Amino acid sequence: MASAAPDRITLRRPDDWHIHLRDGPLLETVTPLAAAQFGRVIVMPNLTPPVATAADAAAYRERILAAVPPSAAGTFTPLMTLYLTPQTSVADVEAAAASPHVVACKLYPAGATTNSASGVRSIDGLWPVFGAMQAADLVLCVHGECADPAVDVFDRESAFVRDDLPRLVAAFPRLRVVLEHVSTADGVAAVVNQPADGRLAATVTAHHLLYSRAALFAGGRLRPHLFCAPVLKAEAHRASLVEAVVGDTRGRFFLGSDSAPHVRASKVGEGGAAAGVYSGRDALGLYAEVFEDAGGGGWVAKLEAFASVNGATFYGLPPATETVTLVRGAHPVPAVVEVVGGGGGTGG
Ligand SMILES: [Zn+2]
Repeated sequence: MASAAPDRITLRRPDDWHIHLRDGPLLETVTPLAAAQFGRVIVMPNLTPPVATAADAAAYRERILAAVPPSAAGTFTPLMTLYLTPQTSVADVEAAAASPHVVACKLYPAGATTNSASGVRSIDGLWPVFGAMQAADLVLCVHGECADPAVDVFDRESAFVRDDLPRLVAAFPRLRVVLEHVSTADGVAAVVNQPADGRLAATVTAHHLLYSRAALFAGGRLRPHLFCAPVLKAEAHRASLVEAVVGDTRGRFFLGSDSAPHVRASKVGEGGAAAGVYSGRDALGLYAEVFEDAGGGGWVAKLEAFASVNGATFYGLPPATETVTLVRGAHPVPAVVEVVGGGGGTGG
């Protein structure tokens, strides 16, 4: 850590505050790869059917734990979320808050991304649920995109940040809110300019830090493995994300890979590419590249704050005491990760 370009860096074990582990063979494939890097992970609930109750979350957690290799059994902790649907009740929230394993609920706009058909068209119907979450001190994780199909796909986060986020934050002054996978300068500004109470934060993915939308069309070919939701944005937005994470002195931004694996047929088949970038195998190294390139002196400490401290603090948990070490070198990323039991997953 003393050198400007160290060949190895050691960090407190990082956490991933936004990950999709899926289910079945995909779960068995990606969970060990996540557990090799991360301590705690916040597991997204968009299964089919969604994880909508505390009982669903408890059952899903057991399936995740069954996929953790013995080597990570003591360090890997899945933290669970509920999927907010139009049917979610105050009683569902209270049951979730009583569970030691559920830490948050996830708001999806209907139709925004993979398995979001159960999501909500308008946040207004969830007002009683948000009130119950605030009372129970459950975190609200927000996929911050306007669900109106008339809004241009590149403008949906900006529309949500302009129209919905301010009234949500104003109506529930003690509710902690995470603007997940922030992808625009507008989202960054909302988080940076919030009141000083620190209850609005954002996760940032490696792919939104590394790529702008030009990468989707590089070389005149559509790149399905870089298609995600929210979609990659213009270069000025990417630059604002990088500036936000390396310049964050108040712990408002933290690591959420949004690693979202699909089987290959869902990414390259004739039905079109499903939204989601699978970055989970190599996420930590990808973030390290961003911080080394843009973080200046002290980039390792900035990376550690982003990856290992800020999220834990926001969620009211202690930072990890154990460490991980990253070693500089060629770490080729495979185009396809074989799914346990056969079939092809997707690299990103
Ligand atoms: Zn996600």
